[in-house]
Amino acid sequence: MHYDAVIIGGGPGGLACATALAEGGLTTLVVERKPQPGPKVCAGGITWSGLIKNIPESLIERSFPQQKIYSRLQRIVISEPTPIIATVNRVELGGFMAKNALNAGAHIKAATSVRRITTGNSLHAYEHKTGREKTYTCTSLIGADGSSSLVRRYLGLASVKMGMGINYQIAGEYADMEWHLDTRFFANGYGWLFPHGRSVSLGAYIPAGNISPAELKTNVCRWAAPRGFDLASKKCRAGLINYDFQGCHFDNIYLVGDAAGLASPLTGEGIYPAIVSGQAVAAKILNPHLSSPDMERLIRRHRRFTRMVALTSRNRMGASILAEVGVAGLRSKILSFRDLEMS
Ligand SMILES: Cc1cc2nc3c(=O)[nH]c(=O)nc-3n(C[C@H](O)[C@H](O)[C@H](O)COP(=O)(O)OP(=O)(O)OC[C@H]3O[C@@H](n4cnc5c(N)ncnc54)[C@H](O)[C@@H]3O)c2cc1C
Repeated sequence: MHYDAVIIGGGPGGLACATALAEGGLTTLVVERKPQPGPKVCAGGITWSGLIKNIPESLIERSFPQQKIYSRLQRIVISEPTPIIATVNRVELGGFMAKNALNAGAHIKAATSVRRITTGNSLHAYEHKTGREKTYTCTSLIGADGSSSLVRRYLGLASVKMGMGINYQIAGEYADMEWHLDTRFFANGYGWLFPHGRSVSLGAYIPAGNISPAELKTNVCRWAAPRGFDLASKKCRAGLINYDFQGCHFDNIYLVGDAAGLASPLTGEGIYPAIVSGQAVAAKILNPHLSSPDMERLIRRHRRFTRMVALTSRNRMGASILAEVGVAGLRSKILSFRDLEMS
């Protein structure tokens, strides 16, 4: 079966792209390997200038005009009149975005994995329910298939700058949103406490570097214990976060979101970059002469954060000093929290 556009991956990037392409009148198919779009290991944090004001309020679980930030030497609280960060449930966000894509006229084929891509944008997909193989062809192929993207590998692009995130979703209520910049546990990354409706996300992100997944897991448990969280027997989920950006457009093949390496190198924030790049790729396919100011700003920020991460990756002492300088900058308002976001 032939489509104008086939998108591999029904995450926020793929669904945003599908909605815009279908609204533009193209026959559009999203192929998603999970039974439904949405579930993804994630802390579910979204920012005010990025997404909070652009999604229905009903999707917001908790919102926080205050952020508590801890480094080894400082503890600060920053406040804004509007929420700085809110939390969403990824299943709910996925369901909402899938509905938008379907309403726009896109087709979504869930529980189907694309296993091979061959010349002429031919996609060989496996249907989990029937065990059958299906072949799709398309004029434009969009890889929105996350950090281990098959489309990216098909293009021969390496993913060297790959961060790692680890998340525990624990039942219970917690008052404050917290960020912990402690190089003893998280090197040049950070640990977080993001309260949701009736649960709290505890976890850590580290850029590509010198902590193994096992060591990071141990460190998160050690860091959480004095805060009253015994994580030893709890289920943890981990995921890669690709920030090795090398472009989005390769003839009639496109990459968006984590597949393009557009997550924030600094914080791992990836939902907003996925949506913006999905929309920008769709706009480019519909009108190759259009440029996207949001996408241009995103790429500028991504480059700046890549340089900052390279600087803090050299050694832990340097990372510690830069963390203290950053927190002092936030305290004195020389630096705004918004300066650390992707939007
Ligand atoms: C622990 C952790 C915490 C995080 N916390 C945050 C946060 O608080 N805020 C934030 O903004 N970002 C966060 N992120 C990053 C964020 O989750 C990602 O950047 C974002 O989901 C990227 O969206 P995407 O659409 O590019 O890819 P994804 O959301 O990864 O979607 C890709 C989709 O493609 C599908 N797929 C892959 N291969 C195939 C195939 N061959 N065939 C069919 N389907 C396929 C997958 O099933 C998946 O549904 C976190 C990440 C981790 C690991």
